Amino acid sequence: MVPDDPIPQHDFAGRLDRAGAAAAESGLSGVLVGVGPDLEYLAGYAAPALERLTALIVRPGGTPVLVVPELERPRAMEAPGAANLEIVGWVDGDDPYEQVTRILGSSPGRLAVGDQLWSAHLLALQGRLPGTAFEVAGPVLATLRARKDAGEIALLARAGTAADAAFAAITGEGLGGRTERQVAASLAEHLVEEGHETADFTIVASGPNGASPHHEPGARRIETGDVVVLDFGGRLGGYCSDITRTVSVGEPQEEIRSVHHIVREAQQQAFEAVGAGATGAEADRAARDVIERAGFGEAFVHRTGHGIGLDVHEDPYLVAGNDRPLVAGNCFSIEPGIYLVGRFGVRIEDIVALTEEGPRRLNEATRELVTVD
Ligand code: ZN
Ligand code: ZN
Ligand code: ZN
Repeated sequence: MVPDDPIPQHDFAGRLDRAGAAAAESGLSGVLVGVGPDLEYLAGYAAPALERLTALIVRPGGTPVLVVPELERPRAMEAPGAANLEIVGWVDGDDPYEQVTRILGSSPGRLAVGDQLWSAHLLALQGRLPGTAFEVAGPVLATLRARKDAGEIALLARAGTAADAAFAAITGEGLGGRTERQVAASLAEHLVEEGHETADFTIVASGPNGASPHHEPGARRIETGDVVVLDFGGRLGGYCSDITRTVSVGEPQEEIRSVHHIVREAQQQAFEAVGAGATGAEADRAARDVIERAGFGEAFVHRTGHGIGLDVHEDPYLVAGNDRPLVAGNCFSIEPGIYLVGRFGVRIEDIVALTEEGPRRLNEATRELVTVD
C-alpha cells in the first residue's frame, strides 16, 4: 500500500441527512455534538478541543448549523463537510449558549447531546433550556457511525496494513536488552514511517508486566525468555489502527506455547462466530468458551472486542449483554487474552471488518508465536 494514496472523500451530506432522519425517528428536536469524533464524522471537522464552545446542531428537516468561535471560522470553513453547513460565529465576550438557544428555539422538547460534549457546555445549556429533556446522542449517532462505508473500511484497512508493517519492523530489530520505553518509542516511529499521521498508543508489556492488559511501558529491560505483549495503533486519514501480538524473546517455554495456542484458538473462534451472524455477546462467548474450557476463564479479564473507526473504542462492543446482531459495515477488534498475574500475559488482536461477503481481517501479521532476538 502506498502511504500517500489520496484519502477517499466521505459523503458528509449523506451522513448529515441520515443523522437528521435518525433524530426525527427518535422524536428529537435536534442533536448537538461538540468537538470530537462525532463532529469529525458529520462534518469532517477535527476541531481543537478548547473551552470555547464549538457545536454542530442537526435538526430534523433543517440546515445543520455549526456554532464556532469566530477565530476558528477559517479552519471550520476548510473542513471537507463545511459546504453542507450554516456557520455561525461568536466572538469572545458573547454568550455562545445564547446562539445555541436562538437556533434551537426557546423550548426544544428533547435534545440529544454528543457523548463527549464537555459537561461545562452541557450544564450551561441545561441552565438556558430548563424545559428541555437532555439525553445522550450515542444511540442515534453510534449506530450510524458503526456502519462503515467502503471508503471508511479502505482507510481502516490501510491503517491495519501500516500497523502490520510496524510490527514487522519492531520484530526485525529485536527486543532483548532494550527497555520497554525504548521499544515503545521505536514502535511509535515505525507507525508514522509506515503511513500513520500519528502514533496514539504503544503498549510494550514484558515478562510479568504482560499480566496488566494496559501496562504503561517503563524502565524494565527486556530479557531472553520474556514474553512481550505489543499492543499499538495510530491514525491514518483520521481512522484508527489497533493490533496486538505477543512475542517470545528467545525460544518460548512449553507453557507459553500452550497459552498462546489457546488465545489464538479463542481469537479464531470469535472470528468464525461473527461470520456466522453472531451478536456482540455471542462473539464474546465464542472466544470465552475456548479459554474457559482450557481452565483460564478467570484470567481473561476483559471483553473480547470493541468497534473502531474515528474513535479507537466505539460501537459495537463484543461483550456480554450486547444482544444486537453485528451487521455488514461493522468494524471491530477481536482481542482475547490470558493474564497470569506475576508471570506473563498473552493477547492477540486483529481488526475485523464485517462485509456483505463475510468477516475480513484488516491485520495480516502472523498470529503464530513469533520468536525474536
Ligand atoms: Zn485495550
Ligand atoms: Zn489494542
Ligand atoms: Zn483494541
